[in-house]
Amino acid sequence: MSEYPYSISGLQLWQWRIQAIASAVQHDVEVAEVDWLLRGITQLDGLALRLGSYKDQAQINIKLKIEELDALWQKRLKERLPVQYIASSQPWRQFELSVSPSVLIPRPETEYLIDLAIGTVKNSNILQSGNWADLGTGSGAIAIGLADAFKQATIHAVDVSPEALKIASANARNLCLSERIKFYQGNWWEPLALFKGKFSGMVSNPPYIPTSTVLTLQPEVVNHEPHLALDGGTDGLDCIRQLITSSPEYLQPGGVWLIEMMAGQADTVFQLLQNHGSYCNIEIHSDFAGIERFAVAYMI
Ligand code: GLN
Repeated sequence: MSEYPYSISGLQLWQWRIQAIASAVQHDVEVAEVDWLLRGITQLDGLALRLGSYKDQAQINIKLKIEELDALWQKRLKERLPVQYIASSQPWRQFELSVSPSVLIPRPETEYLIDLAIGTVKNSNILQSGNWADLGTGSGAIAIGLADAFKQATIHAVDVSPEALKIASANARNLCLSERIKFYQGNWWEPLALFKGKFSGMVSNPPYIPTSTVLTLQPEVVNHEPHLALDGGTDGLDCIRQLITSSPEYLQPGGVWLIEMMAGQADTVFQLLQNHGSYCNIEIHSDFAGIERFAVAYMI
């Protein structure tokens, strides 16, 4: 099936855009989302949308029927459905990733995890190749970022959710990276038992939000994104603790352990890594908002 199976007239789209912008203002939704969405579901660019240069075109190709688009836009306004779930996509690093409510929408701050991973292997040909794990892959974003950065490596991407794995493997296929990314269903390291001690690195953006905080997040997140990908237990650190305890068996000496975490967790995570006794050169890195967001450590 074509990527744009439907078509509408330029005038019809022009009218839809005007009313969508007015309704966005009314419902306190960012107006820029309208053009972002229309760029995602048509072949029009931002300039054409702003100038209305398409208005006289007889036919605009579009991914959704206008009625469907309109119904989803009403959900954006009234049920706070994230616009990325309407467009079914999210740009992340240089990739366009498919998303659905089965996966967390990859966040911009998570992009930096890949730069940190690249930094950890700068002086090591061995670490740049071999096996890397993305535990809790969701949409596959981290696995895809790693496969693109480390051309000699095999990436093992694990998720407990079969629906997430479908999205992640479709993303890898669309980006021609499926040769080097293997997908597994299961808990954290569990499906990778065959490769114990053979990993150059592990990267994860695990659920890290305390259970009681999840319910206070904005409605876009709490009502639509998978809690499985957000809820990290009472103090938010259940999965991070689990990754600290289980990784030494899987990583080779000098192997990289790299995770994302929440504001306020850095000191505890640093202590947990230090107390474990298997990790060295522990570093905390901030995101671009200045929040201590990432922890890196190496296997002794
Ligand atoms: N960064 C996400 C948020 O702000 C949380 C992702 C996670 O728990 N790993 O909602």
